[in-house]
Amino acid sequence: MTAITTEFFPTQYWHRLEDGRIQCDVCPRYCQLHEGQQGLCFVRGCHDGAIKLTSYGRSSGFCIDPIEKKPLNHFLPGTAVLSFGTAGCNLACKFCQNWDMSKSREMDTLADSAAPAKLARVAHELGCRSIAYTYNDPVIFMEYAIDVALACREYGIKSVAVTAGYVCEEPRREFFRHMDAANVDLKAFSEDFYWKICGGHLQPVLDTLIYLKRETDVWFEITTLLIPGENDSDAELEALTQWVVENLGPDVPIHFTAFHPDWKMTQHSPTPPSTLSRARRIAVKNGIHHAYTGNVHDEKGGSTYCHSCGQKLIGRDWYTLSTWNLTADGCCTACGTACAGVFEAKHGTWGARRRPVRLRQYAA
Ligand code: SF4
Repeated sequence: MTAITTEFFPTQYWHRLEDGRIQCDVCPRYCQLHEGQQGLCFVRGCHDGAIKLTSYGRSSGFCIDPIEKKPLNHFLPGTAVLSFGTAGCNLACKFCQNWDMSKSREMDTLADSAAPAKLARVAHELGCRSIAYTYNDPVIFMEYAIDVALACREYGIKSVAVTAGYVCEEPRREFFRHMDAANVDLKAFSEDFYWKICGGHLQPVLDTLIYLKRETDVWFEITTLLIPGENDSDAELEALTQWVVENLGPDVPIHFTAFHPDWKMTQHSPTPPSTLSRARRIAVKNGIHHAYTGNVHDEKGGSTYCHSCGQKLIGRDWYTLSTWNLTADGCCTACGTACAGVFEAKHGTWGARRRPVRLRQYAA
């Protein structure tokens, strides 16, 4: 396998094996590498007898998005987020919906390098309230993401991780210590799916969700992409949503999003909107306060309602906000019940725009 860049940034989560190979301990793949080899994620490899990150300071592209696109519906609604990713991934999902984002011609054109301080300053100049580590999983470039998060903090810019949560205990603790919010992919609720379709395991993801809930103040929401015939049965949705309520409580929002045939799963049909609505109904029946449909036009399924009186709190049509019935401290204007999340007196007005950003156009 070939390194993506020639820069080797030192990392700390690894150890030497008796046979001389080096084991990376960032994620449960535990890649065991000879000198010069890259791990499955392609961005961490064994160089000079240690695991080095080879994508520090480089990105596959930068875009300003609405925060709802991450998706986060309860974190500074309506505000702009500067999104970026690097390359590689530590899962091998056959249905990957993002591979074109990191490999497309547009992103290649935008391929840019960015020191953390510059990235934070540009995010500030562009009026972004947060920065999102997305497109590919930030746990594999955690050293870079953490340095960006630290630089952003100086401007009051929040950090958002879009992650599959497939990470080991120690790096998990270190990574999320620097995050303000996260969207965690819970790709299915079966070990069989994780193993056969993603090449990973379910339990580490559940461990990450429980860790976030019990041991951090990170605001997080869950996304489950529903693939017809693979993870969308009533039984699986019942089990998944019951687990969420029992282990994370009713206030963690969950997004059921639509699959479109992609990457190595082009033989499957797109998810019908009725499947998303069915999943949402099951989640609400099992006690989840905020369940959403995503990747489809569904104003009802995309809006936020008070779980106590039913009033529509935040109306959403795709990524555009309409109704806003929250008080300055995030309570329902009708009954006063608090809505879980991170809210301010006013919502943002970024709307549905997506604006590519070329970092090299800004001063160093
Ligand atoms: S982070 Fe990359 S190199 Fe490390 S164990 Fe995971 S896939 Fe392998």
